[in-house]
Amino acid sequence: MIATNPDTHLLIDRFGRQVTYVRLSVTDRCDLRCVYCMSEDMTFVPREQLLTLEEMFRLGKAFVAMGVDKLRITGGEPLVRRNILKLFQDLGQLDGLRDLTLTTNGTQLARYAKDLKAAGVTRINISLDTLNPERFRALTRLGDITKVLEGIDAALAAGFQRIKLNAVILKHRNHDEVLDLVNFAHQRGMDMTFIEEMPLGVIGDHDRAEAFYSSDAILRDLRQGMVLEESAAQTGGPARYFQREGSDYRVGFISPHSHNFCDTCNRVRVTAEGRLLLCLGQEHSLDLRRVLRAHPTDDGKVREALLESMAIKPQGHEFNLQAAQPMIFRHMSATGG
Ligand code: SAM
Ligand code: SF4
Repeated sequence: MIATNPDTHLLIDRFGRQVTYVRLSVTDRCDLRCVYCMSEDMTFVPREQLLTLEEMFRLGKAFVAMGVDKLRITGGEPLVRRNILKLFQDLGQLDGLRDLTLTTNGTQLARYAKDLKAAGVTRINISLDTLNPERFRALTRLGDITKVLEGIDAALAAGFQRIKLNAVILKHRNHDEVLDLVNFAHQRGMDMTFIEEMPLGVIGDHDRAEAFYSSDAILRDLRQGMVLEESAAQTGGPARYFQREGSDYRVGFISPHSHNFCDTCNRVRVTAEGRLLLCLGQEHSLDLRRVLRAHPTDDGKVREALLESMAIKPQGHEFNLQAAQPMIFRHMSATGG
């Protein structure tokens, strides 16, 4: 029997892992076309298939009632979704939500940073793979780095603490910039995290196995220029952190290939269409849009569905860069990272 008393029903899977962290993608669209994330000619989901902002808020409420205390809004680029501020304002009022966070490419932050802070956003991750304007344009296929730099300044000016910069590192594209990126972040009071490229979706730009640059290689490069000590710090995510000697700031690594992080997985993802994904690297999923639309006023049914989904959360991902085809055909922009 499935009871729906939120006090007694936490989201715990078959392996005893409790889900306390949800990443909610609010759109699959984006104003950039990063070469590791999207193909040049993407087909986006028709707008009527996307969850409405009201449906997203219902989901957020249901998750928080079931013990989720961290919600990250992601995309696509979340800040290109119309009226998105309203969702942040509504979620920011939820009792029990400890952390309301955002992952963004930063291009719209100059416009939004102050309002996001006022809405209750606790932390922001900003993606920036290079400091060089030409490389930035090449890696994003159409981006203007000055907008992102202005966005970073606006987020700092709005008073966000411990902003984190994220960079995906590709061999021969930006691997020689890791030291500069860390210095750029730390000099401005931000942490820096490096991400290994994951084989999600067909991207049509490069061979992912050839472009692979491991976290261990980055760490080796960084240690030529700074002292880094492994830190016990945990932020509820899969990153490993290193403390820089003489600095308050850290360097993190998300390394799905070289250091599998599935044992302590505490998260699920929801796509912009309302598909609940139980693992980034597997297809196990549940159609939450159907549940939301079949029961427009009964949040108990939504909580029941979430509870049942714990039975299909897989043990871990099976990423393989050598596979001829990506094993997962959805792009990172559909999932939100
Ligand atoms: N547009 C926002 C941004 O770029 O921050 C949020 C969505 S984006 C999909 C979230 C994160 O996923 C970004 O830091 C991006 O660099 C990363 N990402 C995208 N595709 C990836 C891939 N194939 N492998 C690893 N990280 C990827
Ligand atoms: Fe857009 Fe983010 Fe994907 Fe880049 S990584 S194309 S900014 S969704």
